[in-house]
Order: sequence, then C-alpha cells, then structure tokens
Amino acid sequence: MKPSKHQVIIIGAGLAGLALAYFLRQSGHDFLLLEARERFGGRIRTSRPETGAPLELGATWFGNKHTALLELLTELGLEKFAQVTGGRAIYEAISTSPPQVVQLPPNEEPSYRIAGGTDVLVRALLANIPAECRLLETVVSHLTLTAEGLEVKTSAGTFLAERVVSTLPPRLLLETISIQPRLPEELQQIARKTHTWMGESIKVGLRYDQPFWRENGAPGGTIFSNVGPVSELYDHSSFTDDQFALKGFLNGAYHSLSRAERRDLVLHQLRKYYGPVVDGFRDYEEAVWRQEPYTFTEYSEHVIPHQHNGHPIFRETFLAERLLLAGAETAALFPGYMDGAVRSARRVSQLL
Ligand SMILES: Cc1cc2nc3c(=O)[nH]c(=O)nc-3n(C[C@H](O)[C@H](O)[C@H](O)COP(=O)(O)OP(=O)(O)OC[C@H]3O[C@@H](n4cnc5c(N)ncnc54)[C@H](O)[C@@H]3O)c2cc1C
Repeated sequence: MKPSKHQVIIIGAGLAGLALAYFLRQSGHDFLLLEARERFGGRIRTSRPETGAPLELGATWFGNKHTALLELLTELGLEKFAQVTGGRAIYEAISTSPPQVVQLPPNEEPSYRIAGGTDVLVRALLANIPAECRLLETVVSHLTLTAEGLEVKTSAGTFLAERVVSTLPPRLLLETISIQPRLPEELQQIARKTHTWMGESIKVGLRYDQPFWRENGAPGGTIFSNVGPVSELYDHSSFTDDQFALKGFLNGAYHSLSRAERRDLVLHQLRKYYGPVVDGFRDYEEAVWRQEPYTFTEYSEHVIPHQHNGHPIFRETFLAERLLLAGAETAALFPGYMDGAVRSARRVSQLL
C-alpha cells in the first residue's frame, strides 16, 4: 500500500508544532501533525485535578519582551496575569546560617502566567487544528529521502511528505530518529551538543486549602535557597485566587530518588520556614523531566545551559530542502523559551 502523502508533516506537537499547525491551517496548507506522547503540549504540562489549583509542571512564565508569544496569546483571545511575589522572599544563602526574610526590589520586568494555566494555550491551538490532521502516540523513528519526497516511518505507519518540519529539541532529533541520507556532519556535531532547555529540571508543587504563607504575617510564598533541595518556590495560586498552591524547582540531582523521598525532602525544607502547617497539603505533584524520553537523552559530555540554543545552522534546510527545523532551541531570539518556540513556528510557516 502506498503511504498517504501530505504537503507538510510536522514532527512533535509541543508549542512549536501546535503553533506551526495553527499557522499552516490559516494559510490553507495540507499538513499532518505527529506526536509521540499520549498528550499534546510537550514541555507544557499543566496538572489539573477536578478540584484544586492547576499546577504547571513545565513552562510557566514569560515577560513583556516575549512579543511573539504575546501576539499569539492576543490573537487567540487569551489573558495573562502577573506572578504574585508578595514583596518579600525567604532567602537561604548557606546551610550554616538561618534563612532570612528579605524585601524584594520592585519588579521592573514583571513575570506573567497564562490565565487558567499554560495548557489553555495548547487547547486554544488545538481548537483550530482539525482532529484528522493530528495523531497522538505516533513515534517517528525514520526519515528517508526518496524520489517522491520524504518518507516518515512511525509506530503508526509510514507517511510521505513534500516537506517535513521537525520540532524536536535538536539533540533529540539526532539521537532518536534515524535519517537517510545522513545529515551534514556540522549539524550533527552541533545538534548533539545542544542543550535541551530545562531537560534536567524537576518541578514540584503542593496544593493547599488555604494560603498559609500569606496569612498572619507569614513571609510569603517566594523562596530562594542555595541550600535546597528546593532552590526556588513561588505562590502558584490560581488566576482567580481561590485555589492555592506553591510550586518551584527541586535540584535536578535528586532525580534518582523515589517520588516519596523527594516529597519528604520538600516538606522537610518547607517546615523549616513555615512550621508543621505544611504537612496539611492536599496533594503533591512533580515532574522529573530527565525521565521523559520524548524530551531528554543523557549527554555524553558536559553541556552548559542554553549551549548552542539559537545556532544559525538550525535555520538552514536539509535533505534536498525537504527537511526544516523548528522548536524552541532553533529560534534566533529567546531560544529555549516558549517565545522561541512560537517564533520558530512563525519563521518556518513563512518558508512553506
Ligand atoms: C520544567 C520546565 C519549565 C519551563 N519553564 C519555562 C518558562 O517558565 N517559560 C518559558 O518560556 N519556557 C519554559 N520552559 C521551556 C518551554 O517549555 C519550551 O521552550 C517549549 O515548551 C518548547 O516547545 P517545543 O515545541 O519547541 O518543544 P517540546 O515541547 O519539547 O515539543 C517537542 C514535541 O516532540 C514530541 N516528540 C519527541 N520525540 C518524538 C518522536 N520521535 N516522534 C514524534 N514526536 C516526538 C514530544 O513529545 C514533544 O511533544 C520550561 C520547560 C520545562 C521542561
């Protein structure tokens, strides 16, 4: 049987893949969006139980400089709201000194969150992408240049496309998809050493019935600690401010512990600042991104944060001009961030 043929196949339905599909839908292209996971969104992942604050286990914040993301939010009619800092923070400089409560300087560059949760953006994009143009649980394993186009072999069958756009983090593309003929040596070298932004991070969050960190003169929900294991924590209450949570980052080195061990370490640290009230949490959530095979693969050598993010080679075309790269790490501006993901999608959409 001949593989079904499309003008464009997009690999990966994170923000870049979804935004690209949305732009291609607007320009009337025939496309197919292929996603390995059982959910859309990639490094955007919002946990939302039936009750309680939505918790961002992936991307959360952005600023006024992130104009590509802001334009898309406006176009989709989505609102943003400023991150609550409370004016004060708990600061722990070294383990031999007690934590201090410090005044935060006025925030000249406010940090925003998407009202309702970051996945509201994912859902708004999906609402504009017909269901027959997107497949979940479809893992791309091979790309082969043929006389008819680019053949895309997946766990759900083989497809043919005039152009293919990979939105995978460049390292993941090189490490997990077999490509014939081989991509240029320079691209391979650079992509393999390109940092996948936040790939090693661990997000932790706790939902509470009451925001005890704001009450009775408590020091607020902002924590910066060099002692850890929680390095940063923020008030993560809902946009409507009627569902309460704290959320932040756990030192990535704790990835090999069990979930229960990590939760106990988080609670132990928070007890130091707030007392036993922290034990009254509704639920604990975490995401260990290093354990996600569709985001992260171990590096064979040391790679620094953001290494090669935005490298110009990612904006070239490959395999007889049939393969293009998008995705946050390929963007010339704000690579690694949601804004970079949207920018990369916009750029590629203008080339197709
Ligand atoms: C913990 C964390 C916190 C973050 N915080 C922020 C923040 O506050 N602000 C900010 O701007 N950015 C933040 N980021 C970065 C932000 O999430 C990314 O810039 C953005 O979401 C990347 O989108 P993308 O589409 O380029 O890549 P991804 O979201 O990684 O999408 C790639 C997609 O490809 C799929 N895929 C992988 N392999 C295959 C395959 N073989 N076949 C088919 N599909 C495949 C994946 O499942 C995924 O859906 C954070 C990221 C993390 C992990």
